[in-house]
Amino acid sequence: MIDLHSHTTASDGTFSPAQLVEEAGRTGVRILGITDHDTFSGFDQVRPLARQAGLDLVCGIELSTKLHGYSVHLLGYFLDPFLKPDGLGDFRTWIGDLQASRRDRNVRLIARLRELGLDITLEEVQARGGGMTGRPHFAQVLIAKGYVSSLQQAFDDYLDESAKGYVNRHEPTFAEAVKHIREAGGIASLAHPIRIREDVATILPELCAMGLNAIEAYHSDHSPSQTALYLELAAQHGLLVTGGSDFHGAVKPEIHLGTGRGGNLRVPEDLVDRLRAG
Ligand code: AMP
Ligand code: FE
Ligand code: FE
Ligand code: ZN
Repeated sequence: MIDLHSHTTASDGTFSPAQLVEEAGRTGVRILGITDHDTFSGFDQVRPLARQAGLDLVCGIELSTKLHGYSVHLLGYFLDPFLKPDGLGDFRTWIGDLQASRRDRNVRLIARLRELGLDITLEEVQARGGGMTGRPHFAQVLIAKGYVSSLQQAFDDYLDESAKGYVNRHEPTFAEAVKHIREAGGIASLAHPIRIREDVATILPELCAMGLNAIEAYHSDHSPSQTALYLELAAQHGLLVTGGSDFHGAVKPEIHLGTGRGGNLRVPEDLVDRLRAG
């Protein structure tokens, strides 16, 4: 089994990188892509362990970008056998800037929530978020303090782009992020296209012109007919295909590594060979 989309405690997952490697072994995932938000640190931590465990670990990342004024996720994969993830110098410097913008956003988000009358501190949120504190960690604190009863309510009432607590964060444009991934020798894949607010078929030519070279046709949120549509679009536009569960551990307990939501995911094994062939 293969799964090219997963998160660890290095971003907003609840499994440590080592626990995720163990979960891959337990569930029969043989090729695992770690795609934490804006960081390689989970991947970096667990490379030797994965090698020992005989797991084929793929270096990935999930970036939040701005497209047509709203937020779109983009996956980057660095799996050319000649490309060493350690060698991604400029790219790693660039994601350092993204991490700084996230920290700046977190400070302003705390101020905004306090202005709305909530008793919440940066320390509390960072205690849950570790190195890469994000809005899901804010949501956890709001739940723990009884302000909301669920992750969804935390986003609906406070944290979503359309909610009253939202503060903007500098995010790279989709085009800029694609360019950085491609210049680093990576594969840029449109993450969970079902969440795009516009008609994907309509905007895809524009995204391809920016250098997008893959699409995540297989994802836990996709129905079989949606997957079929994205596969067809990939063929039409000459895009590579990626896929994965988007495993986050206990914060999204219905999603399982490798098999998705209630077994709805089956990522073809030969997909990685095609990605590696470029
Ligand atoms: P951040 O990276 O801190 O801006 O947080 C983004 C993360 O929050 C995403 O990767 C999602 O996991 C989660 N998220 C964003 N919007 C929502 C929403 N409306 N409902 C639930 N989770 C969301
Ligand atoms: Fe996430
Ligand atoms: Fe995502
Ligand atoms: Zn994800």
